[in-house]
Amino acid sequence: MKVNGVKNIENILTVSCKKEIEQCSYEELYTALMKVVEEESLKHVVPVRGRKLYYISAEFLIGKLLSNNLINLGLYDDVKACLEAHGKSMAALEEVEPEPSLGNGGLGRLAACFLDSLATLNLSGDGIGLRYHCGLFHQKFRDQLQSETPDFWLGGDEWAKKTEKTYTVSLAGKDYEARLYQLAVTGYEGRTNYLNLFDLDTIDPSIIGEGISFDKTDIEKNLTLFLYPDDSDEAGRLLRIYQQYLMVSAGAQMILEECVERGSNLHNLYDYAAIQINDTHPSMVIPELIRLLGEKGIDFDEATEIVTKVCAYTNHTILAEALEKWPKHYLDTVVPQLMPIIEKLDAAARSRTEDTSTAIIDGYQIVHMAHMDIHFTHSTNGVAALHTEILKNSELNNFYRLYPEKFNNKTNGITFRRWLLECNPKLTELIEELIGPGFKKDASELEKLMDFTDNEKVLKQLADIKHDNKAALAAWLEHTQKVVVNPDSMFMIQSKRMHEYKRQQLNLLYLIHQYFEIKAGHTPKIPITAIFGAKAAPAYTIAKDIIHALLTLSEVIGDDPEVSKWMQIVFIENYNVTAAEKMIPACDLSEQISLASKEASGTGNMKFMLNGALTLGTMDGANVEIAEAVGSENIYIFGQSSNQVIRRYSHGDYSAREWYEVDPNIHRAIDFLTSEAMLSCGRQENLERLKNELIYKDWFQTLPDFNAYIVRKEQAVADYAQNPLDWTKRTLINISKAGFFSSDRTIEEYNKDIWHLGE
Ligand SMILES: *Cc1c(COP(=O)(O)O)cnc(C)c1O
Repeated sequence: MKVNGVKNIENILTVSCKKEIEQCSYEELYTALMKVVEEESLKHVVPVRGRKLYYISAEFLIGKLLSNNLINLGLYDDVKACLEAHGKSMAALEEVEPEPSLGNGGLGRLAACFLDSLATLNLSGDGIGLRYHCGLFHQKFRDQLQSETPDFWLGGDEWAKKTEKTYTVSLAGKDYEARLYQLAVTGYEGRTNYLNLFDLDTIDPSIIGEGISFDKTDIEKNLTLFLYPDDSDEAGRLLRIYQQYLMVSAGAQMILEECVERGSNLHNLYDYAAIQINDTHPSMVIPELIRLLGEKGIDFDEATEIVTKVCAYTNHTILAEALEKWPKHYLDTVVPQLMPIIEKLDAAARSRTEDTSTAIIDGYQIVHMAHMDIHFTHSTNGVAALHTEILKNSELNNFYRLYPEKFNNKTNGITFRRWLLECNPKLTELIEELIGPGFKKDASELEKLMDFTDNEKVLKQLADIKHDNKAALAAWLEHTQKVVVNPDSMFMIQSKRMHEYKRQQLNLLYLIHQYFEIKAGHTPKIPITAIFGAKAAPAYTIAKDIIHALLTLSEVIGDDPEVSKWMQIVFIENYNVTAAEKMIPACDLSEQISLASKEASGTGNMKFMLNGALTLGTMDGANVEIAEAVGSENIYIFGQSSNQVIRRYSHGDYSAREWYEVDPNIHRAIDFLTSEAMLSCGRQENLERLKNELIYKDWFQTLPDFNAYIVRKEQAVADYAQNPLDWTKRTLINISKAGFFSSDRTIEEYNKDIWHLGE
């Protein structure tokens, strides 16, 4: 049956809910529409031909699905019109859906964008991950501190369907049944693929105690409760290995089963499967596949060759602490069946080179997962041009010299369906009016907007859309957090995980500096609103102290009418995809201020650019490519270069204390952290710890970039206030140049260079 057309949708909903749409609750409409999407997406399932991709990832930060699926299936406009004709609103409907809690930050969001692009490009590619019951914690602010509660997002109608399929996985010598759940991934006017999520039937959320604490040893009940369980103790670290092995063992069994069903004799697995290892969390899929192939009678050498040809690895970070390494005795405990294989792989790797720094098992009996990935996959890619260069020339130079042919770059991207069509319908409509709808599937068509950069009518329309989006964010903030913001102020937004390398603390010091300036009568050219969204890892003390300082400063400013006329700080609680979709279209200035060399790519930077914000950023990650695309007049760049930073680290001669002592502005801003004003509503312990961290450590070199940051930011504020038309023109140039950052382009590159799907 045809489902499009307002009349048809009306019929379907009335039949499904057994009453008039006016009488339906939003919950009933949600359930009915979910069924419509399910049936419709089934029609786009197509048989797999040739090689199929399996994208294995510990995270898939997919966001809410109803609107996204309706857009991809071409039903959104009709559904919206139908609901509105009956006095119902799409926005209210969207509120009913809980956001899936299956990811943490950019890495998980990238995986979600990739699934969208694969299906849109009609490539067969499935995701493999875990079905976390509470996923990442829910963030709440109490007394200017982050507190964590479980995010119970399961329980209603669910997009991921329980299947009858289970796979036996042996953990610490005991068998568990991993059950497969499947979530349909719709492409925009494309095919349907699946996200395969594994879980145990025995998980028991009632073991969760205070906050997000629980018995970390009760594997049967806890295994898929949380994403990234606190690993500050050994039980937490072991639990991560348990989780990872559940994911890769069930995943590998599923892959082999599918390939055999499609006719593979396993010797030719390469003709049927490509496996992408997203960061090091799924690395154990390598020895696990070798083990499973061994069970089918394929010897170690051939199995190793097959697996190397099938698998590829993406590196997401150069932060050493994020390249996972496990004490060998952890693996002996959890996956004793893999250890003999990992030892053979280590011996094979050692036989290839004298350089013991590339060994898998080092002299301290530590197993380096990334080393196993690079030796025993055919491709290692970085996620932005600069990042890949740093991998090749410094971080992984020892491997690059061994395997230059394996290293390649795939600059990250974002799906324009969610990050433009869905989150910014007004901008989408204007673009379509100007250049037609082709950009939705061919992002390079955005270039055509360059024809309008001097068209005052278009610029006026663009400015009005930005203002509407700011008013919408203001309304949402008032509704959800009871905060009132002024949409006529300049919105500067920093939203991303809270981490010292991302340098929210630099922004904090700027805001303190502004506070002093306003107190001294040097007011900004226009009122500013600094908006933050960020979760801190529960065990990351300094990150939580930065949140505390920002919340406290927000309070201090709010209580001071002299200052609050000119500046406001808003910290959005529980930053997630839903919040991002409201914030990004409303942004004037996008803060991408990581320490150069530390942000592998960033994708938030791309989302903001696409939605008409100008970037204030360092030459880091994909900022470098954004700057190249838009030209230096259309971006605000500041700070040390990655080479300067890397040199400073290698000389080990950075002393934050010297900067603090000689620079009066830095001194004043840091001292303010423990001023009377701050202590009157903040906590001494947290503020003092942060202050000491900045003076005595400052591992991410905040202070050398402080003055350059202030100067560039003041320039941006002045430009925005004094020449709004020119500002809008520059945002239009940013939008027109955003096409390169579509994940469709990224996926086409992966396919051409690494996967060769459908061949
Ligand atoms: C895009 C996105 C991120 C990644 O942001 P970066 O600025 O690249 O770190 C993190 N969280 C959410 C919810 C996102 O949508």
